[in-house]
Amino acid sequence: MWSNDIWHLDHLLPQDGGKPVNEKRYPELVNDPMNHVLACKPCNCIKSGWDPNYTETGATRRIYERGDKLTVEVRSKLIERVRMHIQPEIAVKRATLQRVAELLKKYHV
Ligand SMILES: [Zn+2]
Repeated sequence: MWSNDIWHLDHLLPQDGGKPVNEKRYPELVNDPMNHVLACKPCNCIKSGWDPNYTETGATRRIYERGDKLTVEVRSKLIERVRMHIQPEIAVKRATLQRVAELLKKYHV
């Protein structure tokens, strides 16, 4: 919904993208600050339209039901699910950066 080169302000429960494809989701949360999260660009690009109410296989594991008020407690649980979801890819990116840093050090670039 908003971004610059470093930070993205995004919807925790996505508005579109991800699964199910092309379904406009959580329209009631489009302007709800509780559904807005500040994330660094890499984290947000990995998360993309992924919905923390679903598993990787698309099976539902809802902790937020459409129309509910998004509470601090539910928001925290959703953020934790997103962290778990993006962690493996973050680890890969971190390892790549580490290798690049070692090469830069080795060649004094
Ligand atoms: Zn990040």
